[in-house]
Amino acid sequence: MREASRCLDCGVTPVFDGSRCVLCGGCADVCPTECLKLISLDDVEFDTDIGQMIDSSIGKDAELGENSAILKDEDRCIRCSLCAIRCPVDAISMERVTFSTNWSSV
Ligand code: SF4
Ligand code: SF4
Repeated sequence: MREASRCLDCGVTPVFDGSRCVLCGGCADVCPTECLKLISLDDVEFDTDIGQMIDSSIGKDAELGENSAILKDEDRCIRCSLCAIRCPVDAISMERVTFSTNWSSV
């Protein structure tokens, strides 16, 4: 808890550029918390929003089984940046990412 209290909450996290990735698996191999997983898009269950994002990324008629995704467990990532250092094609950058949640009553 003493160490955690020193955290500056910088919000830096790995960001993946799918257009550069060559699916070598190096990031998943080096990750000390095993929070990265490469899987076929065939094996992903996704909602409408994610489905639309995938369509716009790879095209509506693309074969899902011929495309892959990198899944990341945000709860396990310790932001060590080893994945970014390991990536041979600079497809991962450590960037500050922020988000906010808006609650509304129904
Ligand atoms: S920053 Fe570290 S813990 Fe997070 S995904 Fe990359 S290698 Fe894994
Ligand atoms: S190390 Fe880079 S190129 Fe290899 S699978 Fe990970 S993101 Fe893709």
